[in-house]
Amino acid sequence: MAALQHKIILSEDEMPTRWYNVLHDLPTPPPPPLHPGTLAPIGPDDLAPLFPLALIEQEVTTEQYVEIPGEVLDVYRLWRPSPLFRAHRLEKALGTPARIYYKYEGVSPAGSHKPNTAVPQAFYNAAAGVRRLTTETGAGQWGTALAFACSQFGLECEVWQVRASYDQKPYRRLMIETFGGTVHPSPSDLTAAGRAILAEHPDSTGSLGIAISEAVEVAASDPDTKYALGSVLNHVLLHQTIIGEEALLQLAQIGETPDLLVGCTGGGSNFGGLMFPFLREKWAGRMSPSVLAVEPSACPSLTRGRYAYDFGDTAGMTPLMKMHTLGHDFIPDPIHAGGLRYHGMSPLISHLYETGEIGAVAKPQSECFAAGVLFARTEGIVPAPEPTHALAAAIEEARRCAETGEEKVILTALCGHGHLDLPAYGAYLAGAVSDSETTDAELDALVAESLARVPSVG
Ligand SMILES: *Cc1c(COP(=O)(O)O)cnc(C)c1O
Repeated sequence: MAALQHKIILSEDEMPTRWYNVLHDLPTPPPPPLHPGTLAPIGPDDLAPLFPLALIEQEVTTEQYVEIPGEVLDVYRLWRPSPLFRAHRLEKALGTPARIYYKYEGVSPAGSHKPNTAVPQAFYNAAAGVRRLTTETGAGQWGTALAFACSQFGLECEVWQVRASYDQKPYRRLMIETFGGTVHPSPSDLTAAGRAILAEHPDSTGSLGIAISEAVEVAASDPDTKYALGSVLNHVLLHQTIIGEEALLQLAQIGETPDLLVGCTGGGSNFGGLMFPFLREKWAGRMSPSVLAVEPSACPSLTRGRYAYDFGDTAGMTPLMKMHTLGHDFIPDPIHAGGLRYHGMSPLISHLYETGEIGAVAKPQSECFAAGVLFARTEGIVPAPEPTHALAAAIEEARRCAETGEEKVILTALCGHGHLDLPAYGAYLAGAVSDSETTDAELDALVAESLARVPSVG
């Protein structure tokens, strides 16, 4: 019997040296971010207190490619290129003729795709003479990634961690501290935004939107401090395209082209990072995969949110972005996939969804954990709760192929491991994981109520 090839690997020399900018190839440009006061499109000056010029330029550039700085490539090589796996054992368990591939980002220092953007963000800030970065973190993945990246470039890192995960996930905080970062639970009494929330809700479990308000407030009030965001923005998705560029090379190595690309979406960065280079190939007529975003049914911004201008944070300090949103003060159920609990969706992903380039489905977390456990028992990797959403959809499709006999090629992003999420698996194995019971009507009412608090854009 011929040996099965599980891993498709690239050498360090074969690692791509440019990021791909999807803005260059979009059939129509997405609507611009607006100043919340004047409602005029924002300019570089509006963002300068928060981001260094190099990142502001990457936010708006329409060049097709951006060269990755050598210093960033050097750090990437600690774990990149990341492996692409063929899920032979999962396929066998499902009895499917589909071929399932997963690009595994859990090999990074943080255990997820997040360092792909944390490293360049820290690099450009350090190059601009910034001393400290502030940020928010939900599940703790982004805080870990940024603390690691700051340690590489000699920056201080201060993280506001959503209270619910600060309490439930002490290991993430310890990892951030091990990399040299400082962690505060959010809401905190260190900022006006945090104090306002605590005055009204002393027991608030927090949200990403609140934590963003706190980190932005601190950065905006100190000239030596800037802010870093782990998802949503154009430059973040740009940095993540290293994932898709590598995957393209890896699939080409074995002569495969995907029929279906599936990824999980919180703010859209691992999804965009894998998909954008494949969309480029699709628009150039070289392949024709369908592309599916999978979100939690407890936080369904694409499938149930509105496509509207909204704030990126709860206090309303960020520019207004046109995106699929559940409303900036929507607080999702405390599901275990903390990284998917964001009220909005990247404007780029929202725009691609609006224009019909990608599809979306929402999955309840119990189905996702079942997929995660099956994956662990077949492939031997315990996935983070976030990518189990993509796995659940990939498995559903592979089961359909088992019925129809279709030999579909499915590619997914296994964007992180779940080693620090084992208590969540423990809850699932003990039968203690439940699904959101918010009805569609309740959700619609919450969304409408929240969006009524956004300045209306004519
Ligand atoms: C942060 C995170 C996500 C969600 O963020 P995206 O920007 O949508 O990728 C998903 N999975 C993991 C493992 C994460 O750490």
